[in-house]
Parts: sequence; C-alpha cells; structure tokens
Amino acid sequence: MAQEESQFEEFEQIDFLRDRHVRFFQRTLQVLPERYASLETTRLTVMFFALSGLDVLDALDVVDRDVMIEWIYSLQVLPTEDKSNLSRCGFRGSSHIGIPYSTKGPGVLHPYDSGHVAMTYTGLCSLLILGDDLSRVNKQACLAGLRALQLEDGSFYAVPEGSENDIRFIYCAASICYMLDDWSGMDIQKAIEYIRGSLSYDNGFGQGAGRESHGGWTYCAIASLCLMGRLEEALSQRELDRIRRWCVMRQQSGFHGRPNKPEDTCYSFWVGATLELLDVFRYTNFEKNRSFILSTQDRLVGGFAKWPDSHPDPLHAYLGLCGLSLIGEPDLRKVHPALNITERAFQHLQQLQQTPIAVSTIDLTKRPTSGTWFEVRLENNFSVEQYKPSSKLRQEEKRRAVGGREKLPSVD
Ligand SMILES: [Zn+2]
Repeated sequence: MAQEESQFEEFEQIDFLRDRHVRFFQRTLQVLPERYASLETTRLTVMFFALSGLDVLDALDVVDRDVMIEWIYSLQVLPTEDKSNLSRCGFRGSSHIGIPYSTKGPGVLHPYDSGHVAMTYTGLCSLLILGDDLSRVNKQACLAGLRALQLEDGSFYAVPEGSENDIRFIYCAASICYMLDDWSGMDIQKAIEYIRGSLSYDNGFGQGAGRESHGGWTYCAIASLCLMGRLEEALSQRELDRIRRWCVMRQQSGFHGRPNKPEDTCYSFWVGATLELLDVFRYTNFEKNRSFILSTQDRLVGGFAKWPDSHPDPLHAYLGLCGLSLIGEPDLRKVHPALNITERAFQHLQQLQQTPIAVSTIDLTKRPTSGTWFEVRLENNFSVEQYKPSSKLRQEEKRRAVGGREKLPSVD
C-alpha cells in the first residue's frame, strides 16, 4: 500500500498538465482576481506573461491576434503635434490614465502620461509574439523616451518622473534597443560601467553597486551584455568563470535567487537562462530542476506557483514554463534565453530585421559608427530603421550579440 502511494505521488509530481496551463493563461487574458487590481498600471506585462506562455505552449490559436495587436498599439505614447513630449514616449501599461482610445498619432498631451521602460519592453515582445511587423511602432519616439530615462551613472529610471533606477531597467532598455535594432537609445559604455559596478564580492550581481547578489539581477546583467554583444569585453574569463560558479551554486533541486533562500520556480528561468547564456547550463541537474518546477504546478486551475502548495500567478506560471523549456520539456517551444521570448518569436524579429526597407531619403549626416551601416529615414518622419547592406554581416552581428556563441541555433 505504502509502495502504491509513493508511486502515485511520483505520478502526481511528473505529470505536466499542458491543457490546464493553456486555460490558465486564457483566463489571465480575460479576467483576473480582485487582488490583481494593484497591477492595473502594469497590465501589459501581465498580458505578456500570458501571451508568451501560450506561445511556449504552442497554443497561440486561442487568442484573437488582431484585437490584441490593436490594444497594444493603443498603449503607445505617441508624440504630440509639437513633439514636446518626445522624452515621455514609449508604451504605457494600460488605459488607466483615461486618455481616449487611439492607435494613431498625434499623441495627446497629459501631465501624467508617459511610457514605462518595462511596458515598452513587454509591449514590443508581445507584438513580435503576435506576428506584428512593428511598422506602427514610432521607433524614434521610443528611443528618445529611452534616452531620457538613462542617468549619469548608466542606470535607467523606469519612468521619466523618476523611480528606482537599477540593472533591471538597463535590461529592458537593452532589449528595446536590440528589438528596434538601434542602440542610439542608450549610452552603452555607461550602462556597461554600471553593470560592472554591480558585480558583488561573491561574484553575483546586485541591483547596483554594493548591493546583495541576486539571481534576477545577475540575469539582467548577463543578458544585457549578451544583447549588447559585449559580454567577453566587459568581463574577464576569470570573472565569467566565477559568475558561472555562483550561478551553478544556486541549484538545490530547483534554483533559489540568493544563498540561504528557499528555491523558487522563477529562478529556474532567471538562473537557468543565465547559465545557458554562459554556456554551462548543461552541468546542472535537469531532473531535479524539473521535479521542483512540477511540484509547484497547480493541478486544478493550471499555472505554477513560486513554491509548492501555493497559489499560481502569471509571472511564476510563465517563468516555470520557461524553466521547463530550457531543460527541453517535450512539446514546449524553445525560449530565447536573452530576450525571454520563444525562439519562434525571435526568428520573426530576425526576419523583420533582414527585410529590405523602402528607402525614401538616406540621411548620411547620421552616425555610421562602423561604416557597416547607415541610417535610412522613412518618409513617415519619425520611423527610423537601420539598413545593413550585408545580411551575412548582420548575422555575424547577431551572433556576437548573444555572446559570440555558436550554440544558439536561432542566431546562426
Ligand atoms: Zn519568484
């Protein structure tokens, strides 16, 4: 009898309930419990967790893509006619501020309206997941808004009014520049100096200089450097080896974010993806990692919680799935470890960036920093794209941008 019970327990642990997770994310997109009311201003991010979760589950057919794309574009903070709000552009988290629904410019001036760097990041990711071509993203306005958020020390605020400023928002900014294929949105060197300054004595990264090492901040640091293509320039081999060791030591059965803290589902992605980017994830114990993630699965309503016997939430549900994807769970799409979207969505981005753009005027007064590209200004005055003549050269840049590693199939 005891043996039967233990067999049943084992079955309970390892059974991955795909359809329940699909329904969990569907519900997340429709209605949320009252306790989520405080997240109203960041609703776009909650939507991203659900949408990207459905993408990882290969279940995007359950969403109405066109409606969602229109809703996301309605959250774009567009320049006003006099362009006086350029430094406040990007994407807002929801319609909470009461600006009339519109997906077209010019924008409406409102003293409390501005983009939020994490919303711009998740908004762009969501558009890519939905197969949008980003043609309605006002790139120059997004980049102007981004530049206004960077502080002298290289870190970023989340909003122009001021907020916490740390390595999380550097990651969002780096992802935005990467997706828009234009690094004029940030001073890369200053950002790298801030990241380097956040490397703690025990070889993890803190939120800033002198702060405690943490799995989430370490992910932001390493993923940002990979997206910039500066990982091995910013950190020595010795430092990288020590960071690898700090990350590997975060595994118990799942992963925790800091020494002596309990393991938590989300770190299977934060730390797992960092180890993947550092090319040593394969040295961790996949079986134990999988068992822990599945022990946090809600068998009734779907989703994953941060701990066993806790309530699931969209963030941990999504990152739990990403953690399973990293270890090769069957029937899940692969996740791109640096951008935190599926490889499918990442390949869509690559295709967009390789598509030749209709040239109207070529502005050679804009910087060609390397002589390998020049900016092409489109006639719809604020959309600026970069055109690179050689797709082979572009592929090489992409390869470097994820850390110069050959391993990631999507970048070769
Ligand atoms: Zn967590």
